[in-house]
Amino acid sequence: MSAAAAVRWIEAWTPEQGSARVRSLFEARFADGAPDGTWSAPGRVNLIGEHTDYNGGLCLPIALPHRTYVALRRRDDDLVRLVSAQEPDGVREVALGAVAPGTVDGWAGYVVGVAWAMREAGLAVGGFDVAVDSCVPYGAGLSSSAALEASVAVALDAVFGLGLARPGDDAGRTQLATICVRAENEIAGAPTGGMDQAAALRARPGHALLLDCLDGSVRQVPFDLAAHDLTLLVVDTRAEHALVDGQYAARRASCEAAAARLGVETLREITVDPRGLEWALDKLDGEEQVRRVRHVVTEIDRVTWFVALLDAGVVDAVGPLMNASHASLRDDYEVSCRELDVVVGSAMASGAIGARMTGGGFGGSAIALVRTDAVEQVAQAVAEAFADAGLHPPAFLVATAQAPAA
Ligand code: ADP
Ligand code: MG
Repeated sequence: MSAAAAVRWIEAWTPEQGSARVRSLFEARFADGAPDGTWSAPGRVNLIGEHTDYNGGLCLPIALPHRTYVALRRRDDDLVRLVSAQEPDGVREVALGAVAPGTVDGWAGYVVGVAWAMREAGLAVGGFDVAVDSCVPYGAGLSSSAALEASVAVALDAVFGLGLARPGDDAGRTQLATICVRAENEIAGAPTGGMDQAAALRARPGHALLLDCLDGSVRQVPFDLAAHDLTLLVVDTRAEHALVDGQYAARRASCEAAAARLGVETLREITVDPRGLEWALDKLDGEEQVRRVRHVVTEIDRVTWFVALLDAGVVDAVGPLMNASHASLRDDYEVSCRELDVVVGSAMASGAIGARMTGGGFGGSAIALVRTDAVEQVAQAVAEAFADAGLHPPAFLVATAQAPAA
């Protein structure tokens, strides 16, 4: 018998709500006047193509309606003053000239890291005051970190007149994405492959972003679920398991060792090698390495198939690819967890077209593609399955493909 369970939705703020919130936070915490303006950037969810970015592969994120908002004002000195509605530590102050890898702890690194990386790239930026507020949940695998970096990046672009963030200027936005990746890797000290920043800065409304991680090139793939009476449901499991960082590093190391053994630069090359996947698997060092490589190579192929189905307008045919992706991540790559498996199992049992974990795994979120008239029923079934399993209640979001940082 199923336990009764409430379904909790995480609503996206409207741009007006987000701007008003962050503007009033700025004015309350910095007593000396108004910001120069407000900017925002989206979280993202990856449709398919997991653990492919560091293998030179393909991934397919969309920009969420859930965004991080910043109110920012240029200063004439080198000081950065920053405050976030999500962080209890009040107004922090950092001297920009003193920023270097290992010098800034906590969330401030994501903000001052962007200004630091801009200077490293030879761009003229100075100090600033900034307030942050966000409806992107933290650590849910929906990339609140890149949303923060990208919103700061477009704000600094505007107030220091860099001219890189113009709508549709993909080259300028690609440069900003690279800057955000450096901020996260080198100043915030978190490993990231580049998908999140590309989505936050280079996505388009109504489209999924096909990102080729080999050369950073993108293609905009039409992704309008409403036209097909479909909805993408995101389930934030609220689960976070220990050892995540170590497991991520171990998967990367395994892929690098396999590539070296196969004599290729990245595992992407195996997807087009005329000798085929079986040849590659035969040459590998042990059963675990075989499974890791099999995931990466088949997952890149699944992205290609998924995009082909979107291009052909048969969106409701992608379900089996989503399920195959989940099984591969669970069994071959071993990055799923009980909560993610419960989402996928209960969503499929209650009528979803396809479901899979999304993001790095070991917690975070899963997605389910659902007929729009069945959304409530599937969400209810997932919430009940969590209650039955004695798991912490999940939270639900509806994902549509929205605009990038602006
Ligand atoms: P994810 O990107 O999946 O949400 P991460 O661990 O990569 O998870 O990034 C979360 C971190 O990013 C937070 O712990 C915090 O340091 C920083 N961050 C994200 N959003 C905000 C925000 N609105 N205010 C302050 N810091 C934030
Ligand atoms: Mg992140």
